Amino acid sequence: MAGSSDFDLFRTSEEHDMLRDAVRSLAEAKIAPFAAEVDEQGRFPQEARDALEANDLHAVHVPEAYDGSGADALSTVIVIEEVARVCASSSLIPAVNKLGSLPVQLSGSEELKTRYLGALARKEGMFSYALSEPEAGSDAAGMKTRAVRDGDTYVLNGVKRWITNAGVSDFYTVMAVTDPDKRSKGISAFVVEKGDEGVSFGAPEKKLGIKGSPTREVYLDNVRIPADRMIGAEGTGFATAMKTLDHTRVTIAAQAIGIAQGALDYAKGYVAERKQFGKAIAEFQGIQFMLADMAMKLEAARQLTYAAAAKSERTDADLTFFGAAAKCYASDVAMSITTDAVQLLGGYGYTRDYPVERMMRDAKITQIYEGTNQVQRIVMARNLPA
Ligand SMILES: Cc1cc2nc3c(=O)[nH]c(=O)nc-3n(C[C@H](O)[C@H](O)[C@H](O)COP(=O)(O)OP(=O)(O)OC[C@H]3O[C@@H](n4cnc5c(N)ncnc54)[C@H](O)[C@@H]3O)c2cc1C
Repeated sequence: MAGSSDFDLFRTSEEHDMLRDAVRSLAEAKIAPFAAEVDEQGRFPQEARDALEANDLHAVHVPEAYDGSGADALSTVIVIEEVARVCASSSLIPAVNKLGSLPVQLSGSEELKTRYLGALARKEGMFSYALSEPEAGSDAAGMKTRAVRDGDTYVLNGVKRWITNAGVSDFYTVMAVTDPDKRSKGISAFVVEKGDEGVSFGAPEKKLGIKGSPTREVYLDNVRIPADRMIGAEGTGFATAMKTLDHTRVTIAAQAIGIAQGALDYAKGYVAERKQFGKAIAEFQGIQFMLADMAMKLEAARQLTYAAAAKSERTDADLTFFGAAAKCYASDVAMSITTDAVQLLGGYGYTRDYPVERMMRDAKITQIYEGTNQVQRIVMARNLPA
């Protein structure tokens, strides 16, 4: 797996299959048993973090040069997919570790990469990504958070909203305005540490789903950091943030197909057992057609996601289209499949005694974050394939 980008677009290699088997076994043994409780209690899935870190699966994308596994983009997708199949909240550990740290990997100085990618790989802390603000969601370039240069330091002030794993993560990539006259070209990216003076967090948001993944505001109150914590040159932060999303939308697609696979697997087992009218409901053609449609849509979403992963690995020119298309399509498919899974369980599907209700709630977020699916369509329309 290490460093390999030589894989078939539409079929996984033996190494990828081995990785999938390993992650599936780990997820079923160490993560699945806590998924319902994590959702019910809205608590961080520490068991998942421990299991992923113990097996070096928490941030497989970090290159070997910085003490990481150097896994390719498809391997990262497979890890996230298999964790999401049993617990979407837990899959945000590897997914957001990539989202938060990728700006450093793409645009950071050698010193920043060594320090922060190394710390992530060595499990010294998780990474988060702080772009959104209360008044700047889809229009992220409208952000207000300021970073003002003062000698060898920058002083940051502002509020970041909806930050996944905030409070748990030790490291934050924060986008802030350094030149208010230049809009997106006046935004710069910085690494902020949880322990920096002036950093604090809001109360966890009360959400519909992914309840085990803490989402909080991050407050920056006169946070003074060394100037060399800037990622890339001044004014390049927004471009880095968007380039990052090109790659990480593929990982949200992976989360979506993982959730959908979990729901389909559960529903398939249920309809084989549940009897009405004197036979298993799986014997009714109406049920079989639903399952066939669910499996067909899921496979189409998976193939698009894997094609996008290959493009991410190679940073192909059409990655922007493929990343947005994979995220948009896979998340819509996940919403449809999880809703159908609830339907297949009838009244039981509507209760928390069965996991498909949680999966349906969790699927919804994949249509919203890393840019809503309306925004994905804007991105696709601007980057149509030649
Ligand atoms: C649980 C959760 C976790 C998150 N994690 C993070 C994180 O870790 N880091 C981070 O930076 N952000 C994160 N986000 C923020 C997320 O990316 C934003 O919520 C999202 O981009 C939408 O922004 P908004 O909520 O302000 O909605 P708005 O931008 O206000 O959008 C409202 C509605 O208007 C639509 N809309 C807006 N503009 C257009 C347009 N031009 N054309 C058509 N429709 C449009 C949207 O699609 C949406 O339906 C997270 C959000 C949630 C809910």
